[in-house]
Amino acid sequence: EAPRACPVDRDELGRATWALLHTTAAYFPETPSAADRAGAADLVRGLAASYPCEHCRADFRVAVAAAPPDLSSRAAFAAWACRQSARRRPPPPLTSRRNPVRRHNVVNAKLGKVIFDCDAASLDRRWRVGDPGCWPAGDATAAESL
Ligand code: FAD
Repeated sequence: EAPRACPVDRDELGRATWALLHTTAAYFPETPSAADRAGAADLVRGLAASYPCEHCRADFRVAVAAAPPDLSSRAAFAAWACRQSARRRPPPPLTSRRNPVRRHNVVNAKLGKVIFDCDAASLDRRWRVGDPGCWPAGDATAAESL
């Protein structure tokens, strides 16, 4: 008999949702069309409106309203998502907003999480297929699985 599949809990849902958001950003066009930008804005708006963890959604909605997604390019969207995912509370005012990496580090340290570097190379390594370290050497099919 196949093992029973259980509903996801908050952490599992969070990991899955961040994976969707970061991966969407990682594959966002370098030069997005108006339709590309509208689709991504809908995704973020939909999460802010419907994410099933109520207190997560409330904080996320405040954070998105304070810093709407930058959909001007792939790099901008990926960096936005990286900074956004470090926030569990409404964004702190002023000084830290000018330094997202520092803010991320501060929040991650507070939560006891690993600090994530929001530079483009780190984001691509984590969220775009193609890193040969993640697949057996020469397995081009896996590396193109999206
Ligand atoms: P996650 O934080 O889910 O990260 C998954 C992977 O993403 C990591 O393993 C890492 O490789 C990568 N990663 C980490 N940080 C970044 C980054 N900044 N940029 C790019 N990649 C990164 N949980 C709560 O307890 N309270 C909340 O209020 C809450 N709000 C949430 C709001 C939203 C919109 C979402 C999607 C999730 C929320 N969560 C919340 C869940 C929480 O963010 C985590 O997903 C959950 O705690 C599991 O954490 P994790 O350490 O396993 O990895």
